[in-house]
Parts: sequence; structure tokens; C-alpha cells
Amino acid sequence: MNCLQYIKRCFKNFRQKLDGQDSSYQLSTQNSQVRRKKTLVLDLDETLVHCEFKENPNFHYETILDVWHRGVLYTVYLCKRPYLREFLQQLSAYYEIIVFTAGYESYCDKVLQHIDIDRHISDYFARSNCRFVNGICLKDLSILDRPLDQLIFIDNNANAFEMQPENGLLIPSFLDSDEDECLLRLIPFLKQMAHKPKVIPVSSFLSDYESIHGALFNDMQVTLQGQAEGEEGSLSEESVVVLEYVPKHRKTQTTQQQQKQFIKTLEQRSQTLFSG
Ligand SMILES: [Mg+2]
Repeated sequence: MNCLQYIKRCFKNFRQKLDGQDSSYQLSTQNSQVRRKKTLVLDLDETLVHCEFKENPNFHYETILDVWHRGVLYTVYLCKRPYLREFLQQLSAYYEIIVFTAGYESYCDKVLQHIDIDRHISDYFARSNCRFVNGICLKDLSILDRPLDQLIFIDNNANAFEMQPENGLLIPSFLDSDEDECLLRLIPFLKQMAHKPKVIPVSSFLSDYESIHGALFNDMQVTLQGQAEGEEGSLSEESVVVLEYVPKHRKTQTTQQQQKQFIKTLEQRSQTLFSG
């Protein structure tokens, strides 16, 4: 870790303390070995977790987090995507893992405390590192200061890939289905990619892989998303509007009517929570 990176790390940890107030999540100490690995950049909301900010009878959360943000305490109901722990454990041997989210730092910090207890994630970039153009959240991978031909970026929102489309890998959105296997199915592909001299364009490598092994997500609905204006008013990525989603909730979403109601609830929540 060079001097500038060390200063940035100290500043980020200091800012976590200020913003999160009771934050205890500390970024791992990187060494030169980590920087020789390829980089796996992961979105947070609906890619690794799904969080809600009000009790929802259709949502089977696994834990409740208290998040302090700008002096206000928020209650966050969190559900981890199935196989997340295995995904991080196995792939951290091949990649430096970084989270890049449109959520606020205080929110991201608290969620990472819960989902990364083994500290496989080496860094995170949050809303202050995103660019908002006409209400669309853009994630510019160049700010990560990693070689782009050695970097794979997984997100459930195709908008996020706009600045470096060759790095993007679109994953179906996760809400709370306990049958979701997306992370599990990605592991062998990503392990194989770790041995390639260059990993871009990711979509081309994925097509080659799927031509041999079959489509990774063909039985799962890939969510198409747009983003509402006023993104700045949301603690997480809550203002992302889901345009299409067919949940496979074993426990809760069993009928078409329930599915429609769930989508409606999600859209309403997205448009109203934490506005202003
Ligand atoms: Mg997302």
C-alpha cells in the first residue's frame, strides 16, 4: 500500500466513524499480494443483499440493523443473498473484492459489518464516488485505480455499466428468494476468468462459457431497471425503480396476484422513503 492509499484509507475509516457513529467495520489491510490479483467489483443492493426500511409482511428478513445517518437513526431489515458467504470465501483467493454501491457510506458500512464477518472485502466505494447524470447513477471504475482489463464488475443494474461496458456482468436482482443460486453459479465462471490474461469484454467470455456449460441465469428473471430522479434522497439504492420482476419466493410470493402486489409495494416504497 503506497502512502497516498494509506492516507485515503485512514480518511475513509475516520469518516466511517463520524458518519456511522457506532461503526466497527474496518477495511482490511491490503498488501502487495492483493494488488497482484484481479479485481472483482460487486454492487451491494439487490446483488449481494436486499434491504428494506419498513416492516413488510412479504419480506423475510434475517436481521435488523440500526444505521445512523446524518444524525438520524434508521432501522434496516436485511436479507443476504444465498451462498454469499461461500462466494466471498472462495473468490477472495482469486480476486481482490471491492464493493461499489450507490448507497450511502454509513449504510454500506453497517451492511458490510454484517455480511463480511470474515473480512474478504478489501475496500468499498459508495454514493459519494458515484456520478449522477439526469437521475441515473453511473459508477466510474477508473476511480478504483485498478487495471481495467483485470477487472470484472457485477451489478443488477445495467445503467451502472455505462462508463465501462466491457467490464460489466449483469446479474438478476435479488429480493429475498431463498431459491436464488446466482452467486453459486457464478463461482466456477469467475474462477476460470481469474486465470485469463485479460478479462474484457466480460460478456464475450461469458458467452463462450455459456456455450459450453449452458446459460447461467436462463431460468431466472433478469430484472430490468431504470432509476428515479432524486436518487440523492435515499439511504440505499431504494429509489431504484424495478420495472420488471418475477420473484420466485418459495415462502411468500406464490400467486401472480401476490407478485403484482409485491412489485407495487416495492415501487411505492422506492418513491417515498427517505425523500428530501
Ligand atoms: Mg443494485
